[in-house]
Parts: sequence; C-alpha cells; structure tokens
Amino acid sequence: MHLRQKPEIVTRYSESMHRYRFPIPDSRKSMTLQPENWQDKQNILVVLAHPDDPEFFCGGTLARWARAGHSITYQLLTCGDKGFNPTTSPDMTTDALCAIRHVEQANAAKVIGAQAVHFLDHSDGYLVPDLDLRREVVRAIRKFKPDILVACDPQNLFATYGLNHPDHRAAGQVVLDAAFPAASNPTFFPELITEGYPPHALKEIWVTLTNQPNVTIDVTDMWDIKISAILEHKTQVEDPKALLERFKSRRTDDSTEENPRYEEKFRVIKYS
Ligand SMILES: [Zn+2]
Repeated sequence: MHLRQKPEIVTRYSESMHRYRFPIPDSRKSMTLQPENWQDKQNILVVLAHPDDPEFFCGGTLARWARAGHSITYQLLTCGDKGFNPTTSPDMTTDALCAIRHVEQANAAKVIGAQAVHFLDHSDGYLVPDLDLRREVVRAIRKFKPDILVACDPQNLFATYGLNHPDHRAAGQVVLDAAFPAASNPTFFPELITEGYPPHALKEIWVTLTNQPNVTIDVTDMWDIKISAILEHKTQVEDPKALLERFKSRRTDDSTEENPRYEEKFRVIKYS
C-alpha cells in the first residue's frame, strides 16, 4: 500500500503547467542488476500524451528506476479529458474529467515513485506536432534538465489493440523533434534563452510503445506495482478483473503459471 496525500496543484494560468509534487519514498532500495548501466542517479523526464500513458506503456520500468533512487518527473501534454465514453457516462464533462484525471495521475505517479507530475493541458485527441508544441516541449526539457528522456514511438500506427491513438503518435513526433536537435541547440527557439531556459543536452532517450526495440527490461518484480498504479486511473478502468486478465497476455513466452515473467521494451538512443 502507498500513503495517500493531497497533492499540491498549480494551474497553468499561474505557472503555465499543472504541477504535483511528492516527497521521495523512503522505501527505495538499491538494485544490483541494471541493464541500464547507469553509475549515478539519473534525472528522468517522461513526456507522453495522456494520464495513464506512463503506467500503461512503461510503468514497470519507471517503478524499477524510482526504487533504484533515480528521480522521475512526468510532463503530460494533455489531461486526457476525452478519455471516457459519453454513452456510458452521460453526465461527465471534459472539464470535470480533466480535473479527476489530474488527481488519478498524481495518485498513480505516487505508486510508481515519481517525484512530480506536470500537465500542459492541451485538448485530448487534438495534439498536433507543430512548432508551438515543440517549443513547449523544448522548454520543459531545458527547464527540468533530464539526463534521460522517455518518449513514445511516432511510427507505431498498428498497436496490439488496433490503431494506436493519434495523440501517442503526435506526442512521439513532437517530443523526439524537441529532443533532437532543438533542446541542445541555441539557435532553436532562442526566445527560450531569454525566458531563462538555456540549451540542454540529453544523455539518452528511451522510446516506449515501440515496434523497433533494442533494449528489454525484465519488470517481473515491478509488475504488481505497475498494475496497482494503473488501477489508480479509476475512470479508465471499467472492469479491474478484466484488465488483470488481459494483462496476463503480456507474459513472456517462457512464463509458467507458477513463474510468470514480464518485460517492457524500448528503443534506446544514447548520446554519451
Ligand atoms: Zn494514451
């Protein structure tokens, strides 16, 4: 069980981003085996489209990193305000859902062990990887100065469940375009330097939700944490039992009923 606490909320109108912050969990234990091969504690920024994307896409790996003492910040581009079925939730509005999903995401991030969640609150489903959004993502990268950036794959059109969400592809495109070459190049968005955000060079980019992986992380011992975090997105999980059953299909081929094994895959690009 994790301790619940009321998150601090700062609206985009006061600071341009919604923000939640949590204390670092005391229960972190260092992990001896790290295919990531990081010698020091890393500052990790996760930039994805929707609340619940971090947990669904790579929650096991994020939980693993948090428990190894790395610092994790989420920067979500939307608040997932269209993530409901109006035929089954006729009284729900997009504004109401946006507010609920802020809190659900804060709770889920706390289960994962992330330190902070920020929202840009763009309209769900309408993300376009244009220069304005790229500037916002560059601003976030330069502001948080991550060693490791987590993004998703813009080339993933056919997901296991059918068509990948257009926001996932748009987010992947705009975040990777912000990461290279704009974030570290002072001639891209020089107005951000005036704002106080000088260029920042990333060490690595980890691309999740990809069909072109080159790194596999065994997240078996983090699977229960991932599931617990996903279940915090209560508006998105209509039938928890069905979800748990569906997630059994994520077991690796060498799994047995007694010894299930789970993996998360990434395309990793290293700059140092
Ligand atoms: Zn999503």
